[in-house]
Amino acid sequence: MMVWLLTISLFLFLIFSCRYAWWKRAVDYRYPRILMYHMVRDPIPGKKFNSLRVSPEAFERQVKYLRDNGWHSLTMSEAVDQRGHLPPKSVVITFDDGYRDNLTNALPILQRYNFKATVYLVNDRHDRDWSGYRKAKNEGAGLKDEPKLSDDEVRQLITSGLVEIGAHTLTHANLANLDENDSLKEICGSKELIETDFHLSCLSFAYPFGLYKTADKAYAAECGYSNAVTVETGIADLRSCDLFEIPRVRVSGKDNLLAFKLKLKAGKRGVGK
Ligand SMILES: [Zn+2]
Repeated sequence: MMVWLLTISLFLFLIFSCRYAWWKRAVDYRYPRILMYHMVRDPIPGKKFNSLRVSPEAFERQVKYLRDNGWHSLTMSEAVDQRGHLPPKSVVITFDDGYRDNLTNALPILQRYNFKATVYLVNDRHDRDWSGYRKAKNEGAGLKDEPKLSDDEVRQLITSGLVEIGAHTLTHANLANLDENDSLKEICGSKELIETDFHLSCLSFAYPFGLYKTADKAYAAECGYSNAVTVETGIADLRSCDLFEIPRVRVSGKDNLLAFKLKLKAGKRGVGK
């Protein structure tokens, strides 16, 4: 009996360990954590992409945890500007694509805790299905049906004083498949349009799907962005990393608070994720 109990306990402990990799050492806390989110809304049972849907309750627990544990909130361009003297435990919250819930669900929580965020906007985001631009089998998987921010709603985000607007190409393009001309149009056109529509300077860029050619990094620099983020998982030292290839920490709708804390510490939750 005793042996069985011990065997089962050991087995459970091993599963827990693989899932959470609790032994991983913390990445230097002088390196900012750049968190990648998409939507703040409840998951839709049976739908794809639920990892991109973080419930409002989970998002609030995460922001509250950050606030209660002394994390300093910055926008992406602020973090890059201040990279020589960032306080330890700096965090940047980022949202990709421009979903309406960034205003309706996320902003009230950001305001409650006085946290900032950077929203990477696709200019042509209404009635466009980019679900399948990377993998054709994902076409029609539902991102098209998610309400997106109208320009007026983007203005409300800007007025809050907590949100930086970054760019995410004109059409959520898969840059890896585009020639030089089209890449330039997508990367620089997105910035120009945001600056004209919202009267601000747009300094931060995110590669859609994290896919790009080496040349795209140079295009982003040429058209005047100060930084670009990928979807590569990691925590980088902004003083020495390539500012046009900045990794992020993915926050998934499936993360519990323990997973979130481990990701903040080491960039990843478990052995593989
Ligand atoms: Zn995206």
